[in-house]
Amino acid sequence: MKLSSLLGLCLAAAMLGACGGADKDDAKSDSASDEIAVTEAELAGNPFMEEWTTPYGVPPFGRIENGDYMPAIKKSILEMRSEIAEIVGNPDAPTFENTILALETAGAALTRVTRTFGNVAGTELDDEMRALQTKIYPMLTRERDAITLNAELWTRVRSVYEQKDQLGLDEQDARLLELKHRNFLRAGAALDPAVKAELTKLNTELSKLTTAFGQNLLAATKAFKLELKDEAQTAGLSENFKASIWNENAGAWVVGLNRSAYETFMTQSEVRELREELFNGYRLRASSGEHDNGPNAIKIAQLRAKRAELKGYQSHAHYQLETRMAKTPKGAEDFLLRVWRPGLERAKEERADMQAMIGDEHKFAAHDWWHYAEKVRKARFDLDENETKPYFDLEMVRNGAFEMAQRLFGLTFEPVDVAGWNPVVTSYDVKNADGVHLGLFMTDMYARDSKRGGAWMSSYRMASNIEGDSVRPLITNNLNLSTPPAGEPTLMRFSEVETLFHEFGHGLHGLMTMINYESFAGTSGSPRDYTEFPAQILEHWTAEPEMLAIYARHYQSGDVIPAELVERMRVASNFNQGFKTTEYIAASLLDLRWHSLTSEQAAALTDAREFEQQVLSEYGLIDEIEPRYRSQYFNHVFASGYSAGYYAYLWSEILDADGFAAFKQAEDIFDPETAARLKKWVYQSGGLREADELYRNFRGQDPSIEPLLEGRGFAVEESGGGT
Ligand SMILES: [Zn+2]
Repeated sequence: MKLSSLLGLCLAAAMLGACGGADKDDAKSDSASDEIAVTEAELAGNPFMEEWTTPYGVPPFGRIENGDYMPAIKKSILEMRSEIAEIVGNPDAPTFENTILALETAGAALTRVTRTFGNVAGTELDDEMRALQTKIYPMLTRERDAITLNAELWTRVRSVYEQKDQLGLDEQDARLLELKHRNFLRAGAALDPAVKAELTKLNTELSKLTTAFGQNLLAATKAFKLELKDEAQTAGLSENFKASIWNENAGAWVVGLNRSAYETFMTQSEVRELREELFNGYRLRASSGEHDNGPNAIKIAQLRAKRAELKGYQSHAHYQLETRMAKTPKGAEDFLLRVWRPGLERAKEERADMQAMIGDEHKFAAHDWWHYAEKVRKARFDLDENETKPYFDLEMVRNGAFEMAQRLFGLTFEPVDVAGWNPVVTSYDVKNADGVHLGLFMTDMYARDSKRGGAWMSSYRMASNIEGDSVRPLITNNLNLSTPPAGEPTLMRFSEVETLFHEFGHGLHGLMTMINYESFAGTSGSPRDYTEFPAQILEHWTAEPEMLAIYARHYQSGDVIPAELVERMRVASNFNQGFKTTEYIAASLLDLRWHSLTSEQAAALTDAREFEQQVLSEYGLIDEIEPRYRSQYFNHVFASGYSAGYYAYLWSEILDADGFAAFKQAEDIFDPETAARLKKWVYQSGGLREADELYRNFRGQDPSIEPLLEGRGFAVEESGGGT
């Protein structure tokens, strides 16, 4: 069983990857800004100009200063431009090696800098880094466009592609060719020069806007603090939580807007006015004043719609979904609505249950949801999260995840001393069953003001194996747990345990990959509505009794979590599922609608809030539930890689629910045969084949939607098949 389904856990932002450049391009729109120069003096002592002799070749974090990024990026852009010029200027006829493979390896130095920059900016953002983001991302976008919209390069790529059946390529090489060709085509390589020039302008503008969106959100999030000076204001809060939010400097308990602290306060606090204040702080952030993201959201939607139109698509969503499992916006929406209807009905029942508990005292409101849901849960299932938390100590939970990977895939994790980007980082050497090194796994579990919210997996270096040079990856997992008081263990809510296993699943996808090319190794190159599957399926193990016996032990007594407590957790797990399903699907529908606008429709938008209200009321969302993300802080879709793709978590749940059923059918959650197929076709295979084929090879059949509905405790509709 998977006790709660969760959302908002992502893969790293899209901009971390390789970008590219060329110094001559007939589509060039803004030649002045394309001029890049850097002197040897500016590069003196720059760590990015050296081989890294650190353990595992991790970036030498202690030596990298903010001022090192820009010169290193400039230098490596110039280097990449000359690599591209060499491909274009090659007098030999285009071949797989001199064009496709050369393209794949071009810009390696730039990738090394941008991955470091992107990752560090995600966890240690300061004003200087913020200013750098604003400059760097539009530059990288321009360089990438200069490659994908380069007419001569496109001619060479197309020429190799046209000979593909005569080249005798092996499966991985053939896939690389297929994907490179497709990327050029989808980027607009085959369009007229004038249209390409316009695309370049739009992409650069979009890059600025999405960066501004993310920065506004972080600033607005940081700006809000709920300060509690009186003991009376902390009524209901657990001692453990109080200790974690005590701020010595402020002489007060301070609650910010990180999701973990937010949900804990909304659940525990007995002071209704304070809950309302925090609720409004959360839902109204970045919605007015200097950090208002409403105009940014509109502008981003407009430019994306315009760009899709230039490429010949009805909308940005049509463009995005073309290469996904759902295929069309309608396909995604139909699927969402199948789950939305029973979810919303259930939410209405939950609302009635809570109003009944409140009685005539006051009308149940949106900011009451967490608090009364917990009360109903306690009354009906006798379950209190303070009762379960002592069994979920971070150290034990993490070791449990490692043990699971050992039993399923034969992996081992050995703690190693490697200096990370922050003192809280812990690192592990990962080996396969034969003792062969697979990669380095680095974890950063704690929230801080400089770190963006949520949980995510990323990499400082990806796996590749080109011409016998095997490179193994440096993979990261980030969570945002509240830091416990000094000397105390980090006790987790069960949903946080699931989050840890989720990101660990993305991590394994990166670590176990046997793909030779970064373009489709690990989490790269597979469709958004599939990439969540390898992460989400691992959440199912968290609450299996066999797994709990391994990791769910009381942090003081060492006793395994009692079976009757687990049973109460299981029974209670479907409670509040109406709310969770509804808030998630509301956000997914909102995302789809923002990005299904035609260019003309988008141009008519003036007020983000108004558009949002109109969409949500059309689907019948009730007033007591907010979408999981409102437009102004929907970072996934306006500033990260999930535009027209937030639905993907639920789509992937079709796969994870159905996929876990294979283990249940084998009556062994560590069934060796099922695990071997999962390892081979999912964790090792990256984007080697189309996602539905990878899944079929693992499962032996197409997925069906029934396990998803059953998993959420909803009735299974009679009509309609799987996906
Ligand atoms: Zn994820």
